[in-house]
Amino acid sequence: MRLLPLAALSAGVLAPAAQAWGFLGHKTVALLASRHLLPETAVFVRSFLYRDQSIMDAAVWADRYAHVPFGRYSKGWHYIDARDEPPTWCGIQYNRDCGDDGGQGGCIVSALVNMTARLQDQTLPWPQRAQALRFVLHFLGDIHQPLHTEHLSRGGNGVHVLFHGRETNLHSIWDGAILEAVWGRGNDRVVAHLTNDLDGRLGPGGTYTADKETWRSCMNVSNTQDCALGWAGEANTYVCSYVLAKEVEGKELGGAYAHGAVPIIERQIAAAGYRLAGWLNMIVCGRHGLDELPGAGYTAYSGVGEDALFGVVEERHEEDVRIDRAIVEFEKMHPEVECDGLAFQGIRVQH
Ligand SMILES: [Zn+2]
Repeated sequence: MRLLPLAALSAGVLAPAAQAWGFLGHKTVALLASRHLLPETAVFVRSFLYRDQSIMDAAVWADRYAHVPFGRYSKGWHYIDARDEPPTWCGIQYNRDCGDDGGQGGCIVSALVNMTARLQDQTLPWPQRAQALRFVLHFLGDIHQPLHTEHLSRGGNGVHVLFHGRETNLHSIWDGAILEAVWGRGNDRVVAHLTNDLDGRLGPGGTYTADKETWRSCMNVSNTQDCALGWAGEANTYVCSYVLAKEVEGKELGGAYAHGAVPIIERQIAAAGYRLAGWLNMIVCGRHGLDELPGAGYTAYSGVGEDALFGVVEERHEEDVRIDRAIVEFEKMHPEVECDGLAFQGIRVQH
């Protein structure tokens, strides 16, 4: 069954700038990861989620934060601007590409280094480690989006394209529209559906079974930069091999182009979720713990995954209550912000 957007998605529904996978991508990464956590890791994650906050909601927080004025400093942390020349040659160099970006500083690689270290730092107060977890949950997703590793036309934000007749840009359709056209908008039912499907492909005999060894090959939380650069480089190769392999400016991409992009996007989301679980297991247990038990992966930790979904320990810290209220107020005034749940109203799908 294929779901296609019927009503034109207003440009405002999609992120206005290079930010992230949409809700569907990020929530699926987090939910998939939760199913591969070791029991100790699941307890750890829960302990840093706010009461009633799900790991899926925690994974999208960083985008909402980057959109509000007081969180804007973190905007440059969501990508790395590879100064390559797609489709002729692709590649990431840390010193060249993770420079001072418009005065904001840093990139997704340095942010992952920093937030991984902060999450491990037991001397930091709880709210700061909780925030570090939210960033890690998010950035492991973003770094797998090919256009979050590309400088050209602001990661494709400046490449105008059509998607089922609607004017949009290349970045936006890679963030969300291509995947949502197949699976539906990112409500929790759709997220669970996609997660189940990808988890099945990770299981015995699945499409991704042979890739898992590669996906878990770099899990060194003491040398985050190397691993993060590897993941970013992997995503960046798709920029040359597919995303910008042919001229796309002004083209309708809802047909054959989207059809070819879906397997890449699904694969990247699966890799991100799988790696996120291994990364968190490394932080907590010192081993990636992936596929550790007989038949592990698909079913072994599914019970743990349910446990890891919601925080039960801490109420929101006072400062975070203030930040979250301000985010909600800002989004009410600026309904174009993607992460405002209200922005999803009015979207129709047909079978
Ligand atoms: Zn993001």
